[in-house]
Amino acid sequence: VAEFDVIVLGGGPGGYIAAERLARAGRSVLLAEKTAVGGTCLNVGCIPTKALMGCAKLYDEARGSARFGVNAADVSYDWSVMQDWKARAVASLVGGVTGMLKRAGVVVQTGEAGWRGGNRVVLGGEVHRGRDIIIATGSSPVWPDIAGVAGNPLVVDSTGLLEVAAVPARLAVVGGGVIGIEFASIFARLGTAVTVIEALDEVLGVMDRSLAARLRTSAPGVDFHLGTVVEAIDGGRVTCSKGGATFGVEADLVLMAVGRRPNVTGWLAEGTGLDFDARGVRVDDRMATNVDHVWAVGDVTGRGALAHAAYRMGEVAAANILARATGGAAQVFRAETVPWAVYGYPEAAGVGLTEEACRSRGLAVASVTLPLGVSGRFVAEHGASRAGLVKLVAETASGVVRGVQLVGPYAPEIIWGAAHLLETGSTIADIRSLVFPHPSISEAIREAAWAFPTEERNPR
Ligand SMILES: Cc1cc2nc3c(=O)[nH]c(=O)nc-3n(C[C@H](O)[C@H](O)[C@H](O)COP(=O)(O)OP(=O)(O)OC[C@H]3O[C@@H](n4cnc5c(N)ncnc54)[C@H](O)[C@@H]3O)c2cc1C
Repeated sequence: VAEFDVIVLGGGPGGYIAAERLARAGRSVLLAEKTAVGGTCLNVGCIPTKALMGCAKLYDEARGSARFGVNAADVSYDWSVMQDWKARAVASLVGGVTGMLKRAGVVVQTGEAGWRGGNRVVLGGEVHRGRDIIIATGSSPVWPDIAGVAGNPLVVDSTGLLEVAAVPARLAVVGGGVIGIEFASIFARLGTAVTVIEALDEVLGVMDRSLAARLRTSAPGVDFHLGTVVEAIDGGRVTCSKGGATFGVEADLVLMAVGRRPNVTGWLAEGTGLDFDARGVRVDDRMATNVDHVWAVGDVTGRGALAHAAYRMGEVAAANILARATGGAAQVFRAETVPWAVYGYPEAAGVGLTEEACRSRGLAVASVTLPLGVSGRFVAEHGASRAGLVKLVAETASGVVRGVQLVGPYAPEIIWGAAHLLETGSTIADIRSLVFPHPSISEAIREAAWAFPTEERNPR
């Protein structure tokens, strides 16, 4: 029996950050990882999708470069080189995390761990004891029970689509969430005819409806069927129904992207008393579960399936384990100020509440929506006719900023500033007195603040 201060189950963003922070603080840490350090994010999520998006974007921009006076003749792409590029990006970052864990002194062991209750974890046939246990087992793609899906080689999930040997001529994407939209954008930019089928009446549920609609209508090369339910899939033929009518979408490959579910099975023994259900392991804002000394972080908690949310949850759990020993102050995870990002074409990002959500909570808010044409850099690089929007939502009386959303280039790079505005309770007047670089897309946030209807006009 090996004894550790902390045992972490799962080496994705939530688990590896927690392990690293604790080991750096002098704790003995065992990190158990079933497949590959880096988890979904580095191996089959954030990073490989962004690598392929980078390749697809370059190809698409090269094809459309003549209007900028750049004539690139015979532009073509090589999917296998793109796949190599993706693999090198993944390997480089996985190597980086592995090195970081080693330098911190984390003991990393490959294998499927099982928590047996209390302080006992089984790994590789041995029982280990950890004074604290962190559950960071992540999530997996949902495979819905639709006729013709099981065993159909033409239906893949996100992991399968990342590995396809050839780019399909026609791709059907079932689900218009972030993952569906990102893959739709990648393949549309490579020339694939993409059809997105979404059961709800708009894509990207996280977004303000009007901005989601703008993103959808300005996504080149993608057809959308909203309010449409997939009834069955036969080979590459997707049978859909909408308002009582049935129709088919023909595809060479079908991406199943209807969501992910927390990995609450496999590692969890019966009778441990842990509070969990299909939505995840229940935690409080300190990432504590209902079992003393057992913490959960990341996708397995069902609280915001994003890598940076997992990082922060991992940090909070680590800080609270340390604080217990030292009597320091507890840290909390604030889900409401976690930004989201869509690396589609166009890109989008946001933080805080939508105007609709504010109103349903009884908050008196006003909003300003501006085209990104107010940004000099946007017009200079993309032209005023390209779609792009910023929306700012703030409380009418106090001017306290409640939400910021952007559709347009660099949105995911800009949004942390808006998250900071929310974290600090900043107001419209505060934004007006901030100096933004010019020309930049971020200036659109400042323009929106100055266009805000009710706040007093003088910055403090
Ligand atoms: C295609 C795709 C694109 C994405 N793009 C983005 C993006 O751009 N930005 C973003 O923020 N998020 C993105 N995400 C989401 C992001 O990947 C997840 O939110 C993030 O990886 C969650 O981290 P985690 O540590 O909770 O879990 P994971 O990263 O899922 O890691 C969990 C780890 O636990 C291991 N494990 C499970 N059970 C056991 C066990 N019993 N014993 C040992 N190990 C175990 C698994 O092998 C896995 O490595 C994307 C996801 C997908 C699928």
